[in-house]
Amino acid sequence: APPAEPVLSCRGIERSFGGLKALKGVDVDVFKGEIFGLVGPNGSGKTTMVNVMTGFYPAEAGHVRLLGEDVTNLAPHAIAGRGVARTFQNLALFKGMSVLDNILVGRHTHMKPSALATLFYWVWAQREELAHRRIVEEIIDFMQLQDIRDEPVDVIPMGLQKRVELARALVAEPSFLILDEPMAGMNQEEKEYIARFILDARDERGVTILLIEHHMDVVTAICDRVAVLSYGEIIAQGEPRSAIADPKVVKAYLGE
Ligand code: ADP
Repeated sequence: APPAEPVLSCRGIERSFGGLKALKGVDVDVFKGEIFGLVGPNGSGKTTMVNVMTGFYPAEAGHVRLLGEDVTNLAPHAIAGRGVARTFQNLALFKGMSVLDNILVGRHTHMKPSALATLFYWVWAQREELAHRRIVEEIIDFMQLQDIRDEPVDVIPMGLQKRVELARALVAEPSFLILDEPMAGMNQEEKEYIARFILDARDERGVTILLIEHHMDVVTAICDRVAVLSYGEIIAQGEPRSAIADPKVVKAYLGE
């Protein structure tokens, strides 16, 4: 059988900041149903890569394909509209808003009125409202956030805030989800919770996942494949344990 087509395929991605070449021609393929780890020492280019994939930074060279379509340098909302959701390294929740309202924000890519909808506004609004509520309730249950749904998001512990951010990404019903260090600052129990949710998102909701993660125990436990970046280049790729044990990777981390 021919090899499956990747959900996301990046070829020769380059990006610099001033004189610094943060990405020097990066190739990455992520296949349907994978949990793909993007790892590497601090400053190796992981977040920059994700920013290029999601349209936040333009690529200076190279191509990003999503389900076979060229999406290189499309605007972030256009890429989100094609089923890509992401979370950020630093929490990007709306302070003062409730957990529920923060999660509802994740539905915005689905709220597009049409001419017909305007004509039958109330019918449409009620239907839309129901559809939004259904998926939001489903995700709140899935992420076990029922008990804190009405709390202002800033008063809940960091681990739960991270979970809210993940819930907000999931209510967009993405086919491809990018998580930038979803376990940063978490204790062991919280890390295990998030790892379980990530596996369930893939297994039960069919989401393909790209994960930037520092905790190597997590990477080897839940990733199907990894790519290791160092100074803007992929230095190893493949099955997590062997990629991480590659001498080039060991050396890159020692120099951190
Ligand atoms: P990682 O996510 O692996 O820690 P980054 O992608 O954040 O790495 O950074 C890669 C390199 O690009 C680093 O040297 C960083 O200092 C630089 N960099 C990232 N973003 C910017 C920016 N907005 N302006 C200037 N330099 C940046």
